[in-house]
Amino acid sequence: MRVFIACLGTETNTFSPMPTGLATFAGTMLHHGDATAHPASLYSGPLLVWRRLAEARGDTVIEGLAAFAEPAGPTTRAVHEALREELLAGLRAALPLDIVLLHQHGAMVAVGEDDCEGDLLARVRDVVGPGVVVGSELDLHCHITARMVESATAIVTYKEYPHTDTEERAAELFAICAAAAEGRVRPVMAAAPLHMVGIFETTREPMRSFTDRMTAREGRDGILSISLGHGFPYGDVPDVGATLLVVADGDPAPARALAEELGREVWRMREAIAQTRVPLETALASALATDRRPTVIADVCDNAGGGAPSDSTFIVRELLARGIGDVAAGLFWDPVAVRFSIEAGEGATIDLRIGGKCGPASGDPLDLRVTVRRIIHDAEQTFGPSRNPVGDLVLVSAANGVDLVLNSIRTQVFHPDAFTQLGLDLATKRIVVVKSMHHFYAGFAQIAAQVFHVAGPGALPSDYAAMPYTKRSLPFWPAVADPHGPDGPRATIVTRSAG
Ligand SMILES: [Zn+2]
Repeated sequence: MRVFIACLGTETNTFSPMPTGLATFAGTMLHHGDATAHPASLYSGPLLVWRRLAEARGDTVIEGLAAFAEPAGPTTRAVHEALREELLAGLRAALPLDIVLLHQHGAMVAVGEDDCEGDLLARVRDVVGPGVVVGSELDLHCHITARMVESATAIVTYKEYPHTDTEERAAELFAICAAAAEGRVRPVMAAAPLHMVGIFETTREPMRSFTDRMTAREGRDGILSISLGHGFPYGDVPDVGATLLVVADGDPAPARALAEELGREVWRMREAIAQTRVPLETALASALATDRRPTVIADVCDNAGGGAPSDSTFIVRELLARGIGDVAAGLFWDPVAVRFSIEAGEGATIDLRIGGKCGPASGDPLDLRVTVRRIIHDAEQTFGPSRNPVGDLVLVSAANGVDLVLNSIRTQVFHPDAFTQLGLDLATKRIVVVKSMHHFYAGFAQIAAQVFHVAGPGALPSDYAAMPYTKRSLPFWPAVADPHGPDGPRATIVTRSAG
């Protein structure tokens, strides 16, 4: 069989002050047909899985564009259209095809297009026709739309947050699509919008058990795959919110019934699964009350992975004001401060302006006398099986054991090696501040005495009821107590009966 693989995505925070253009794609991932010739990153990992599985079956793999941008504001119209057309040109050149596999995000917005994934899937369907299997793997922070469901043969989202299962889900999608191409299954889909907006961690109960229950229901009674799209709160689009999606074999009725059953289950858990964020004061009081080290404080509101600048100074400013020492904090995306540090060189003591540069949500810059301790050019950090670029990485030390890590490619903290590769021993720190919403947790839970997700000021506000959406026409929780009525969520998006 002939299999086409490609990737185009980003997670768009429509409220972010930073435009997404070609440099943001180039700094994150931009390959023109040879992504699988490079080691796996978070975004190319599924393509490597698909190539391996397809070639093991003797399939011919044709690889197209692989482009992913670190989350920020809407992608410019010119760049969106150029990348989309490059992908579609590769697709046309690859015809005839049996299977198309796309790694997308599900929350990509461009100037003039609120549903980039649905737009691309519909165009792919137009190119290949109704008989070709089209599979899409999405981040779970996705807006699942009717256009996406109607255009694809099968959609599978990540199940885990932190996203530790991107390659497992890629293999699952491959198995469904290969079976469909061979005529062994006829996938149909049903999606139940839950009209809930929030952030939901799968590392704690009751979401942990629910995620395992979803997995346990797959593979029997005609159910091929179950996904919970958590939604992405920072996208002002008509379909923002969580969605329960079921892929079944042949008959849409069981898919519809299960989407509604599990959707009601998620809906009933809504208060219990919403991410708990504490005031900074609570986290600091606890950190100062214990001898165990380190207390890890997640600066969730400045998470680059949600489209924030990653240069806000609110938490470190408070630590400095209180004279709290033995602190490590990062990653501050500050290419100017990185440049100055490199120019001064390791060992130099300089007055450095750090952070607070991107807008009001970044706060005011910190002006500190620091010593440049360590510089690593073109550094990477670990996330699951992948290695991901952070650019030039610099450790600077201020007085009182306050160590700040600066970098030149905007990214959230995924793993302790973002700090430890610079020689920092995190076990000696009273407090470690990580700019990340939850992906840090997979690596830091093992080394932390305690972990707090802190609701601070920043580009990613915590009050979802107050999100200034202009495009969502239907009510959502928590802005209203119950947008469903007595019946709960309904599967309003259902593909026609297969065959
Ligand atoms: Zn995500």
